[in-house]
Amino acid sequence: MTPSLPGPSASLSGIRIVPDMPICQQDLPLDWYQKEFQPYAEEYLALPDRLPETVLPWMDRYIHPALDHFGPSIMLLAHYYMGGEIVKLVERYGGRIGDSYELALQTRERPEVTVFVESAVHFMAEAIAILAGEHQDVWITNPRSGCTMEMMAKEHMVEPVFEDLRARYGDDLLVVAYMNTSGRVKALAGKTGGSVCTSSNAKSVVSWALGEGKRIFFVPDRHLGEVVAGWVGIGADERFIWGEEPGTRPSLADLSARERERLDGAKMILWGSYCGVHTVFTPEHVEYWRSRGYRVLVHPECPTSVVALADGAGSTKFLWNEIREAKRGDRLAIGTEGHFVRNAAEQAELRGVEIVNLADIPDPGFGEMGCGCATMSRNDPPHLVAILDLLRRGSPPDLNRVLPGDVVNETTGSRDRLTEEGRTEIVRDARMSLERMIEVVSRSG
Ligand code: SF4
Repeated sequence: MTPSLPGPSASLSGIRIVPDMPICQQDLPLDWYQKEFQPYAEEYLALPDRLPETVLPWMDRYIHPALDHFGPSIMLLAHYYMGGEIVKLVERYGGRIGDSYELALQTRERPEVTVFVESAVHFMAEAIAILAGEHQDVWITNPRSGCTMEMMAKEHMVEPVFEDLRARYGDDLLVVAYMNTSGRVKALAGKTGGSVCTSSNAKSVVSWALGEGKRIFFVPDRHLGEVVAGWVGIGADERFIWGEEPGTRPSLADLSARERERLDGAKMILWGSYCGVHTVFTPEHVEYWRSRGYRVLVHPECPTSVVALADGAGSTKFLWNEIREAKRGDRLAIGTEGHFVRNAAEQAELRGVEIVNLADIPDPGFGEMGCGCATMSRNDPPHLVAILDLLRRGSPPDLNRVLPGDVVNETTGSRDRLTEEGRTEIVRDARMSLERMIEVVSRSG
């Protein structure tokens, strides 16, 4: 029997679970689940297949009682990049799908909700927790779901450089922290009167920072930073990349006299991190599809050489809107996270629009490119089922609760949690930087 599905939601409007398409691309090994989740994972792994007609009744058995128990006080959230069919599953159970900006605003937009359950990466859940009211709790289905870009910009890496730069430039320095940072790094931005940004508003936020007459320290994505610098007119010779070589993080003392001179002349200092998913795209990919009549659209986390050649670049939301507005017969090559492109391609096909992944080239010369954000895909059906059932029973693992300032080791799963005093400080400073972004966005319309 094909399970009945709800109508279109506000966010993905019409995304649906295809009956004969497997629910999940890949099963995780049992020992990747925390011990409280293993009984659920064992049941899931024992199911005969991953087809919706098998998996959905199993999920319903746990999820419907949990949703009935909490009623309107619970909200499920997921990011567009979630792997397999998880975005569709979250949507099926009445949840909200969004980009990181939309997800972060949910505690404010839905004050009646007291329990948020997020299926995405940790920094996104933490941003939700930073803006949450005291009556609202945030839970993540898998705390080990990290972001590789954020992992290359942990507080212990960024703070020493931040302190060096503060000592050199004083109040002239303003930090713009991309949403893909921990709360502790967002708090550094708040300390300088700076702001958070997302890819959908980075241009407005950087323009605002320039208008303040400050020297910008942009953390952590050098590619987004460089793309936005180009958009707002900051030339290549006015940028300084901190740690050009991946994995190298010099201190101020390591810089040569010439490098210091360049640093002093820079309007924008960019932390040298990047997204492993978006940096697989190359100018050759763009040329390949363009020469075959495809319009190429990319995310600005792609290298600048790719963005410069593409027909358009913008946030996840921008890409989604472009895909939705495409007309029958249009052909688009999209350079962003693979699960998003796959979901978009399925939906677009129903409207006669052809979508391909920019890196998915049927030519052995190009090699295999991988499918998407592997860390985000650590959230799967057993994780969603387990956290909801354990919440209903009143025994959720504390590791899945997300508080501002939490730092989770993505490999071991261990967590460093601040004292209440430390947390209060982080909330104050990080909230300031998030609120600055909200203010800039609302001013720029
Ligand atoms: S796609 Fe890249 S930037 Fe986004 S969460 Fe995954 S690793 Fe991080």
